[in-house]
Amino acid sequence: MPPVPSLPSIDEARATLLAAARPLPSVDVRVPEALGLMLAEDVVAAGDVPAFANSAMDGFAVREGPSNRRLRIVGESRAGTPFTGEVHDGEAVRISTGAALPAGADAVLQIELIEVDGDEIVLGDAVAARRNVRDAGSDLRAGTRVLAAGTRLGPAELGVAIGAGRINVHVTPRPRVAILTTGDELMEPGTPLQPGQIHDSNGPTLAALASRAGAEVVGRGHAVDDPEATRAVIAQALDEADVVILAGGVSVGPHDHVKGALIELGVRELLWRVALRPGKPTWLGERDGKLVLGLPGNPVSAYVTFLLFARPALAALAGADPSVPRTSAPLAVALPRHPDRDEMVRVHRDADGRVAPTGPQDSHVLSSLLGADALALVPRGDGELPAGTEVVLEPV
Ligand code: AMP
Ligand code: MG
Repeated sequence: MPPVPSLPSIDEARATLLAAARPLPSVDVRVPEALGLMLAEDVVAAGDVPAFANSAMDGFAVREGPSNRRLRIVGESRAGTPFTGEVHDGEAVRISTGAALPAGADAVLQIELIEVDGDEIVLGDAVAARRNVRDAGSDLRAGTRVLAAGTRLGPAELGVAIGAGRINVHVTPRPRVAILTTGDELMEPGTPLQPGQIHDSNGPTLAALASRAGAEVVGRGHAVDDPEATRAVIAQALDEADVVILAGGVSVGPHDHVKGALIELGVRELLWRVALRPGKPTWLGERDGKLVLGLPGNPVSAYVTFLLFARPALAALAGADPSVPRTSAPLAVALPRHPDRDEMVRVHRDADGRVAPTGPQDSHVLSSLLGADALALVPRGDGELPAGTEVVLEPV
């Protein structure tokens, strides 16, 4: 008998999908709406920030000079309303934090160090030039690059972009994702079940995973186990989304219609089946730059394969680094190995940093994901991995 060709590994499958995952074309987005997105251009400061020298303190703007001076108060510079005159020797201008330093003044003495006597002040301290003065350009210098393309925009980056004079930024958009479920047995959450029916948990769970991964869920659909219905729902999803994620119907059963429908719709198969448990029947495809992931229907299989394949692909489309930081930890208990599939085991971490299964590992036991700190990779092979073996962890 010829040897059975071995299925691609998790890493091979991931690499195959990522090779087809290009960053989406960049778009202009209002700065306040750009949180979490990847910058697709450099941001250069349009002007100095601050644009004018201003006071770091509430106090009096004065000219530099020795201590024990008496100065006449000639006006006020408020935040937003500068003093329009000039400060001469023997004069002072009341000033607020952030207010423009008046012409002629070169320092600010804080209010706590000053004695006010009618329309005069008495300075206890000598005042050196630039004391309590924030110079123009001391935050951002006009013409300099303040944010580089490829930066993820967090709250501080948004503030800096505004400071640089921007109202819009050029970013890679969130991938638009459609989540499709298949199966005659599926019922809307909360509805009473007839014998043989189950509640659709994959739809809401996969949508939540996609949102958490930074995608925009633009569509949710369902197909009963019928070739026509399956084709119709996928065709619509391919129209409106960059990534179509299906759950169920990708196996070889007589009522699994997803693969056939995808091929008929011109979706090119990149890969079918991975040496993975749970998640072997995973189907990955592509059409005109759009990605299609046919995930197995068992809830844990769908969840695990989303993390392993959809999560990095969505990051790549969003212009981010798709590599997931993997850590490792020693096993607290021995674990059996599957002879020809790498296994992703739901584990929790104990106080000593060692990991152990959260509970039963069957692919329908979604409750074993509760309290899981990671998925531990148990490589295929004979026998078992002894306690203490260091295993690779995939974040959940
Ligand atoms: P399938 O991949 O379609 O053969 O489905 C495998 C298992 O997953 C079956 O027990 C299905 O009932 C179950 N399943 C499929 N889709 C869902 C879903 N959306 N929510 C919960 N379970 C599902
Ligand atoms: Mg099914």
